[in-house]
Amino acid sequence: MQAQTHATTVFLSATDMVRLVRRVGLSACIAGVAERIEREFLRWHEFDKSARVAAYSERGVIELMPIADASRFAFKYVNGHPGNHLIGLPSVMAFGALADVDTGAPRFLSELTLTTAIRTAAMSALATRQLARADSRSMAIIGNGAQSEFQAITFRDLVGVRELRLFDVDRGASDKLAANLSGQGFDLRVCASAADAVRGADIVTTLTADKARATILTARMIEPGMHVNAVGGDSPGKTELEADVLQTASVFVEFEPQSRIEGEIQQMPADFSVTEFWQVLAGTHPGRRTASEVTVFDSVGFALEDFAALSFMRECAERQGLGTVVALVPQMDDPKNLYALLREPASNGADGSVRAPAPADC
Ligand code: NAD
Repeated sequence: MQAQTHATTVFLSATDMVRLVRRVGLSACIAGVAERIEREFLRWHEFDKSARVAAYSERGVIELMPIADASRFAFKYVNGHPGNHLIGLPSVMAFGALADVDTGAPRFLSELTLTTAIRTAAMSALATRQLARADSRSMAIIGNGAQSEFQAITFRDLVGVRELRLFDVDRGASDKLAANLSGQGFDLRVCASAADAVRGADIVTTLTADKARATILTARMIEPGMHVNAVGGDSPGKTELEADVLQTASVFVEFEPQSRIEGEIQQMPADFSVTEFWQVLAGTHPGRRTASEVTVFDSVGFALEDFAALSFMRECAERQGLGTVVALVPQMDDPKNLYALLREPASNGADGSVRAPAPADC
């Protein structure tokens, strides 16, 4: 890779990200991102945090997720369009950047679609490791689309899950998941219904995409001691759990102001009690208190997870010599002379008169 100056940016394309994850190994990337998320969450008070900015439409949402500490600023652009598969696009697509706070210069611009799947799974597993019963080995996965392999492999590596029960309204998605995970150390079963998949599971992960107030899990399906990793309900009007599931559980969220708008808890009164997960990591909240307690991680995805993932991928790309140095910002000898980049020999009339140009036909 060409040397980077303080005015250039490293661009990591989707092709380069695939190369990076293949070279480093998916499990090693997941472990690295999880370790980085944990480290950044322990610096919770050092970040300038805000709920994401969203543009909602009939078919989906487009969001911007900014965050900064004293030295780095990060943002992610991400969408959620559950019907996209009908036109050959993923439901979730993302890219993002890291910039220097001291100068504002963008230093790293990266694909984040693959990275989002990795960071979401890493975040889910970090929460589950703290909140599920320590002897948890079985997991139901409801919704077997793009995120599901990443969740399964991460829960195998970081939580010790060995038994999976899969359910999706699209049987083809479950068959794809089962095929992708075969020979990877799982005891797998494709189930006929969500209730069938959930019955007897230690952990339930919901990963459905539907722009609706869905009830993937009802209170009747929940058994004492279960941990629910609710990932798919992440936007206003888009939920997966019946409100009664939350009513009787201990609920943990990423960043409360954002989760109140986007998470499962959007269904609950404003004073419904929740705990921000960083408190569990920091040891100021015990997390799970009893073996029979039901815990819910109401995941919506928070900018700090992307900050951590971008930082990790940037370092990996540098070590692997991947990425292209690009001039996202014009390179100038005199930074006050931006116009010099466009200056051409004078084209005025011989008499010095100025001709009004015709509108450009680009
Ligand atoms: P995807 O479209 O690839 O897969 C979603 C799957 O859900 C599809 O296979 C679909 O058939 C299935 N599904 C829809 N309704 C269902 C139902 N009622 N019961 C069972 N299955 C059902 O989407 P994806 O990329 O895997 O993302 C899954 C969800 O996770 C999306 O809602 C996405 O917005 C969300 N997400 C959240 C985070 C986060 O940080 N919380 C991050 C990434 C994605």
